[in-house]
Amino acid sequence: MWHDVAIYYNEGGVFMNYKSKLSKLAEGITSSIIRELLKFASEPGFISFGGGVPDPETFPRKELAEIAKEVIEKEYRFSLQYGTTEGDPLLKAQYIRYLERWEGLKGLTENNLLITVGSQQALDLIARTFLDEGSIVALSLPAYLGAVSAFKMRNPRFLTVPLSEDGMETEILEKKLESLSSEELQRFKFVYTVPNFHNPAGVTLSLERRKHLLELAERFDFFIVEDDPYGALRFEGEHVPSIFKLGGMDRVVLLNTFSKVLSPGLRIGLVIAHESVISRLVRVKQGVDLCSPSLTQRIAARYMERYDMLAKLKETLEIYREKKDVMMKAFERHLSDIGARWTRPKGGLFSWIVLPEDFDTLEMLEIGKEHKILWIPGSAFHVDGSGQNTMRVSYCLPSKEEIGEGVERMRRAMEAYKKAKVPSR
Ligand SMILES: *Cc1c(COP(=O)(O)O)cnc(C)c1O
Repeated sequence: MWHDVAIYYNEGGVFMNYKSKLSKLAEGITSSIIRELLKFASEPGFISFGGGVPDPETFPRKELAEIAKEVIEKEYRFSLQYGTTEGDPLLKAQYIRYLERWEGLKGLTENNLLITVGSQQALDLIARTFLDEGSIVALSLPAYLGAVSAFKMRNPRFLTVPLSEDGMETEILEKKLESLSSEELQRFKFVYTVPNFHNPAGVTLSLERRKHLLELAERFDFFIVEDDPYGALRFEGEHVPSIFKLGGMDRVVLLNTFSKVLSPGLRIGLVIAHESVISRLVRVKQGVDLCSPSLTQRIAARYMERYDMLAKLKETLEIYREKKDVMMKAFERHLSDIGARWTRPKGGLFSWIVLPEDFDTLEMLEIGKEHKILWIPGSAFHVDGSGQNTMRVSYCLPSKEEIGEGVERMRRAMEAYKKAKVPSR
């Protein structure tokens, strides 16, 4: 009888040995180092440069609460019901207007948009739709972890391209593409890029390189996945046209999200692409989750109808800019003579520090913990395991005072690390 065998408990007190049943895919997935690191940063007294999320105080909570109530009470037939896989037509209409105003994109129709559960789902759907085992994808070193995780599910080969102050070094991409065999070029699917205020590197792809990337796409017959969560978060300098705007939907699939401009909790992302791409993604999405949540889509639609999303963002950007300035001044003062280099972002949430070769920022984090300061070791963002001497730092969550103090702590940790680990020459 079954309750006689139920006494044979296995790993973790579970009767069934689920581990023996795992897929090869699941067996290969390790837990994210960032998740682990962020856990201890919540201890009192800690200053964290680790977070990559917007400041919750910037969420328009009163406005959203009011709209949520209305949308549930008055539009329950839509908002509490299943929706289409493609997404809320009202939200699409609002977003098409927004893209026209913000990006100067004309002629888009409902069929060019797919609403996803955050950009993360868009990345997953793109991976499922275009990648097989052994397909080749180009991305930067360092690269956005969310994209790497989504692509890895399909087990592709990564072609890595370094980043400079002007973003992805397309000259190096060109050389690497030239060195591929024709058989490899057939397996080459797309270049993944975060053009504005890169996560984690903070850099922006220059206009020249955007155009170069499009030329390469024509010449080597691939498409570009332009992941742009931060374009609207510029606090200085001139707007650079999106690759989508420059090249059109023949070669570019554009990803946008509400996560960094409104609220990540809504979980709304968008794919803007040629109809033939959207219809394929829709088929795949059907088997994943049927549809994105009707409720949050309708809330976002009514919010966009009533408020100017970007005008509301201005205040937030001013705060980010001030915090960035405080951080840059502190770097200047405390990190220059240690041989560090860093990016001076003109928008977004991140700066990126490159230390001399003999530093290992993951190892150094043990000392960082003692000084109650956290950064994200850069090796986490390198698919080839390099980048030990780099780190990602964010200025968006800590206060200005904490930023100044945090950089001093970083400096002390670096000195202590140098004494303990770096061999003196
Ligand atoms: C934050 C971020 C996103 C947003 O992901 P969501 O799933 O929409 O929250 C996408 N790409 C990059 C590079 C990001 O930094």
